[in-house]
Amino acid sequence: MNKAVKSVVIVGGGTAGWLSAGIIAAEHQANSPRGIKLTLIESPDIKPIGVGEGTWPTMRDTLQIIGISEVEFLRCCDASFKQGSQFIGWVNGQKNDSYYHPFVAPQGFGQANISGYWQQTAQQTPFAHAVSVQPHLCDHGCAPKQKQTPEFAAVANYGYHLNAAKFAALLQRHCIENLGVEHIVDHVERVNGAIDNNIESVSTRVHGDISADLFIDCSGSQALLISKHYQIPFINKKDILFNDSAIAVQVPYAVEDAEISSHTLSTAQQAGWIWDIGLPTRRGVGYTYASDYLSDEAAEKALRAYLAKDLSTEALAKLVFRKLTFTPGHREKFWHKNCVAVGMAAGFLEPLEASALALVELSAKMIAKELPANHSIMAITADRFNQRFHYRWQRIIEFLKLHYVLSQRSDDKYWLDNRLAETIPERLQQLLTLWQYQEPSYNDFTEIEEIFPAASYQYIIYGMGFTTQARATTRRHDNATISNKCMQENQQLSRKYLAGLPKNRELLNYLIDNEVNN
Ligand SMILES: Cc1cc2nc3c(=O)[nH]c(=O)nc-3n(C[C@H](O)[C@H](O)[C@H](O)COP(=O)(O)OP(=O)(O)OC[C@H]3O[C@@H](n4cnc5c(N)ncnc54)[C@H](O)[C@@H]3O)c2cc1C
Repeated sequence: MNKAVKSVVIVGGGTAGWLSAGIIAAEHQANSPRGIKLTLIESPDIKPIGVGEGTWPTMRDTLQIIGISEVEFLRCCDASFKQGSQFIGWVNGQKNDSYYHPFVAPQGFGQANISGYWQQTAQQTPFAHAVSVQPHLCDHGCAPKQKQTPEFAAVANYGYHLNAAKFAALLQRHCIENLGVEHIVDHVERVNGAIDNNIESVSTRVHGDISADLFIDCSGSQALLISKHYQIPFINKKDILFNDSAIAVQVPYAVEDAEISSHTLSTAQQAGWIWDIGLPTRRGVGYTYASDYLSDEAAEKALRAYLAKDLSTEALAKLVFRKLTFTPGHREKFWHKNCVAVGMAAGFLEPLEASALALVELSAKMIAKELPANHSIMAITADRFNQRFHYRWQRIIEFLKLHYVLSQRSDDKYWLDNRLAETIPERLQQLLTLWQYQEPSYNDFTEIEEIFPAASYQYIIYGMGFTTQARATTRRHDNATISNKCMQENQQLSRKYLAGLPKNRELLNYLIDNEVNN
């Protein structure tokens, strides 16, 4: 039981596999003789899912940990900057129905009850515009930084939009060439070990048995180790989050130097929503919907109608539409014995708010930081991991559901059913009751690394027209002077940033063409 953990095998070479490899190899010095031995096995027969183009700001930290420069990343992955999401048509589907969930917290967040002050004084300005510079930058397609801002540093917090296939290819090259990861292209045919004990090895078609002390299951929806071998149950969440299908398409720009959007556009539809992501060379667009409420044909027709706004009939006819299906949910536990599942093997809910890659980053970082020194403490680490990630999956489920619960749309049963009490997690129902009388605050989300902090909840609920009633008596926290000052500062900063920041494409062209390295 005291056997040291010296080797790790990752099964799967999608974004989850290579991100995990990079993060763990960098921390445990897989490229040094005294470091860990890290092997990634990837099937030549099963392609990675190849979607997943929106990230969180956490990706900046991740790239730095792995040791990939921002310029190299931008150049190799056809990547652009993402400053949040814009939700169009989610409230009632009428003209001008739009709000932002930016990555920057409200100006002065926590110093005073700014959302309460906004509700009483400034509702003619949308909440996010009143308290954050970022919606203003997004409205104008501005970049989140200046040309001279150092790599990974920000004027306004940002993540990225990227080409998923190119990102996996860059990670693969970097992991093999610089981080000492051994890459085996082979199909895993069998997992060896008793179901009530550790995995000893995996049998591959050509390379024989490959053993390790810890196995990371990044085999995507196959969930080869955690499900097929260990039979850890899958918790289906379709009763809460209805979407289970998507049609994705890559869309060329009408002109080469078209503006690149600084945020993900998320437009509500009859039975789901359309994502629209701007990369330097193309857009990535898709309709995610609930098959119980909409046929594939109707979804594709709606997606084509959405694209027809910007594309000629000839351009539209050339597009290749790709259908994907998924079951929203997650494993009952993620780490079992000497196997831990990361990425689609651990679960997937839906693309809204792009939380999947962020969960991969967090999982790989915790594995890297807490990699058990030997087998005697593996069960303790597994428990800690399971507790933390169970908490995170529940918080994501609640946050995603919030977007549907607060909608007033009634154009389809999909939207009405989304508001039925039996489809809403109990904790979310309680929070919504509380928030009728007090704004979302740090007290509602007490973990150090909350997936979605109280600021995110404020953006969604007030963006969707939710009202928090003013108290009968005043508190020191309801400080109108501080709130007013914060909102004034936000307007001043917005004007300053708009005047000083380049457009997205201008900055990307500059960074890529000039090979800037800070
Ligand atoms: C419609 C849609 C939109 C999405 N949008 C976003 C988004 O905007 N942002 C975001 O963060 N996430 C998004 N995601 C999720 C994101 O795509 C995934 O989390 C991410 O791509 C990681 O996938 P993966 O590596 O776990 O699995 P996969 O990409 O499926 O990789 C699985 C790997 O396992 C290997 N494998 C399988 N079986 C075997 C075997 N027997 N032997 C050896 N190897 C094997 C395969 O060869 C492959 O390399 C989206 C998902 C969907 C479905």
